Amino acid sequence: MSVVVQKYGGSSVADVDRLRAVADRVMRTRRNGHDVVVVVSAMGDTTDELLALAKRVSPNPDRRELDMLLTAGERISMALLSMAIRELGGDAISFTGSQSGIITNDRHVDARIVEVRPFRVQDELARGKIVVIAGYQGVSYRREVTTLGRGGSDTTAVAMAAALDAEYCEICSDVDGVYTADPRVVSEAHRIDALSYEETQELAECGAKVLNAQAVEFAKEQGIAIYARATASALPGSDPSADGTVVRRHPARMPGTVVGVASEKDVLLVDADRTLPILEALDDHHVTGKQLHIIHGGSDPGSVNIGRLTLVVSRENLHDEERVRRAIMERFGVACRIVDSLGAVSVVGAGINASFQNVRRGTAALEDKGLTARGIATSSFRITWLVDRGSVDDAVRLLHETFIRTA
Ligand code: ADP
Ligand code: ASP
Ligand code: MG
Repeated sequence: MSVVVQKYGGSSVADVDRLRAVADRVMRTRRNGHDVVVVVSAMGDTTDELLALAKRVSPNPDRRELDMLLTAGERISMALLSMAIRELGGDAISFTGSQSGIITNDRHVDARIVEVRPFRVQDELARGKIVVIAGYQGVSYRREVTTLGRGGSDTTAVAMAAALDAEYCEICSDVDGVYTADPRVVSEAHRIDALSYEETQELAECGAKVLNAQAVEFAKEQGIAIYARATASALPGSDPSADGTVVRRHPARMPGTVVGVASEKDVLLVDADRTLPILEALDDHHVTGKQLHIIHGGSDPGSVNIGRLTLVVSRENLHDEERVRRAIMERFGVACRIVDSLGAVSVVGAGINASFQNVRRGTAALEDKGLTARGIATSSFRITWLVDRGSVDDAVRLLHETFIRTA
């Protein structure tokens, strides 16, 4: 029997009625003749609520203890979903990340999966069971409980799909696929039928929440097809791109086409007159960043410690910001400035930077409407504009209008 992995996000399991609807969808999949592994997120806003609770006890919570706390969210939904499936006559068993063999590195709060040893999952599938797994969590090789970063249940699902050689991995959410922009921000955004791994990874890294970037990276490495679909949708038919988004290798597209616009509001810009020591300090505090730019300055071009560094840090997995800021201030003083007023807006597509035409077009469109680009960065798949945080949604709508609606 072929294995299918389905992941249901927080909004899909937010209350008992929704849990029952998910259980019913799982049972229908099972009746279609598949072995089913279900990965669940914490119910509704549970993870945010647990984080807020932790902050009330400790403004800079210890990362290990945070993982012990946050993993409880997914544990609740896995047990409840398993019970709901059993109520419908299915034979289900739930497992934590650790029991499912999700082995991670030893970072807390944003651990990476290094290996999956799904022996217990395979044994239970062989016994004819439906296996329900708590997403977003694993166990490190030091036997510590870890979490995979916000949105990490997607990563659990894809990693499990790869380890079980699944036919496909469904990511079921409150939207029926990946759109050309967040449909909550751009009412004209439309669903994209098919995306390459690279396009999807870039959209996710630039803030499109619907799929987790690391999950897409795993899918790319292992060649797993991802079907992004609505929980309320029918099961995938012969053409799953008809009512969802299919992410796999090489769908045909004209090079240079902008496929989507994504944004991230909650970012910090690190702007410093020191270079490698800043990176060392960030590493010491387990802070990751992107769009790193270093320009060497001073009279000694060989010195990598002097010059100008800029870097964008996402707040998504930064739960001890106050402590990090204090440490950086004490060590670097005015040589390191943290700018907390910007957001990032990106357009994504293969080959969009073959010339500077798109950078110029997007910048002109923004400036035309009085939105100042505070910074611009490009890669082969992406152009990112840093704009004032309050203007991010306007910039998304404008760039969607410029590159997608009028394309
Ligand atoms: P889940 O809880 O199911 O994991 P998420 O909240 O993580 O769901 O992701 C789904 C949300 O992502 C949608 O409600 C939508 O507002 C948002 N989103 C952002 N960008 C996009 C996009 N390009 N396409 C679809 N949804 C998007
Ligand atoms: N519950 C976790 C979060 O809210 C993981 C997930 O939903 O994927 O980020
Ligand atoms: Mg999600």
